[in-house]
Amino acid sequence: MLKTDTVARRAIPSVDRVLNRAAVVELIARYGRPLVVETVRALLEEERALHYTSTGVAHDEPALAAECAERLRRATASSLKTVFNLTGTVLHTNLGRALIAESAAQAALQAMTHAVNLEYDLDGGARGERDHHVAAWLKRLTGSEAAIVVNNNAAAVYLVLNTLAQRKEVIVSRGELIEIGGAFRIPDIMARSGCRLREVGTTNRTHASDFRDAINARTSAIMKVHASNYSIEGFVAAVPEPELAALAREHALPFIVDLGSGTLVDLERYGLPHEPTPRDAIAAGADLVTFSGDKLLGGPQCGLIVGRADLIAKIRKNPMKRALRVDKLTLAVLDATLRLYADPDRLAQELPTLRLLTRPRADIEAQAQRVLPALSAALAAHADAETIACASQIGSGALPVDALPSCGIAIRPRGKRRGALVDALATAFRTLPVPVIGRIKDGAFIIDLRCLEDESRFVAQLAELRLA
Ligand SMILES: *Cc1c(COP(=O)(O)O)cnc(C)c1O
Repeated sequence: MLKTDTVARRAIPSVDRVLNRAAVVELIARYGRPLVVETVRALLEEERALHYTSTGVAHDEPALAAECAERLRRATASSLKTVFNLTGTVLHTNLGRALIAESAAQAALQAMTHAVNLEYDLDGGARGERDHHVAAWLKRLTGSEAAIVVNNNAAAVYLVLNTLAQRKEVIVSRGELIEIGGAFRIPDIMARSGCRLREVGTTNRTHASDFRDAINARTSAIMKVHASNYSIEGFVAAVPEPELAALAREHALPFIVDLGSGTLVDLERYGLPHEPTPRDAIAAGADLVTFSGDKLLGGPQCGLIVGRADLIAKIRKNPMKRALRVDKLTLAVLDATLRLYADPDRLAQELPTLRLLTRPRADIEAQAQRVLPALSAALAAHADAETIACASQIGSGALPVDALPSCGIAIRPRGKRRGALVDALATAFRTLPVPVIGRIKDGAFIIDLRCLEDESRFVAQLAELRLA
């Protein structure tokens, strides 16, 4: 036993010997010496361990080199990958929400690779204000006096409350104490911002008198939160914004509206269901409106605060603004995105979010018919594919009830144990070079083609689908 072991162990090459093989020298040129040495060492260590168990079989040197190449490829591949979002949810938070426009991507590249006048006033040659670059567009598009940009909408809500309501009370309807997902709860943000939440009304009905009765010496603001991801139907009542605004004004309190998604255009113009806009909220009397940059706006992750100039000035002075500010990349992307709104006629083509949301069903169906044969061929005898009518969602809290008619492909495994097989199918699609993310419903793996823009890449990689 001992003898066999010794002989087998002697067959394991030295680290240097492996490093000197031509294939491994190439790996050193590609990945750098330290990573390759580390990988070879680990690999030979495992080989040695294998030989201590009687089942161990020595790999020959070419096999070791190949394994080394594979491990390096995996270890150095970025964990952040491009994927096909075929979930049917256009603004999918887990898949990065809005895709930015081509012109915005170009602007980002410029800003990343060059010095820019981020906080430098070129006219006066003095220190400038970073939000200045986008404020004019935001004011124009929302009808507000001033604007400020922070890391995301959660930060916007936090900063507004922390500035205006610390150690004081903010009145909110019980019907709007929402959780957005990813553990973002309005009551938690309010608590962390240092203000006291004063809940009024009930889950389904809140009246103006509820707000009026709650106002006291400690009240610092009235807040309205857009019920982003749910709707209450039936016996419901909410106080219209103009009425809340009037009540707030009567008591010299700021009226804050957290819109969440906040589209800058009237979506009905593009045949989509109506979604409240910051302009509507400002016109209804809101003193401050907060909304996200990467939801319906179709820009980078950021949070926008628009409204009264005196309140925005106060917010700007909050030291936490520094901690929540955005970088030059975000500002460059936001600026280029806002510019697209200057021409609403071209917007639906150039802003990917709107382009995807307005894709005609017939268009998506024609695409489904086109890719179906290639998909069926790739699935071979493992599963059947057929086109189906489905409904896409906007996502990220916009219009929870309204679904957009779309077309997809349902893939159903053949044979017994279909439940396990459909999971395996989803995994196979997820492990393609550009992972395909769909959803499982009623024993089928379903892909909604609304967001499939790079059709040729999708079809080309189907040849690599590995089904057991
Ligand atoms: C999405 C949303 C938020 C959080 O916005 P983020 O940009 O994800 O930080 C806050 N409030 C409402 C109403 C929302 O819909």
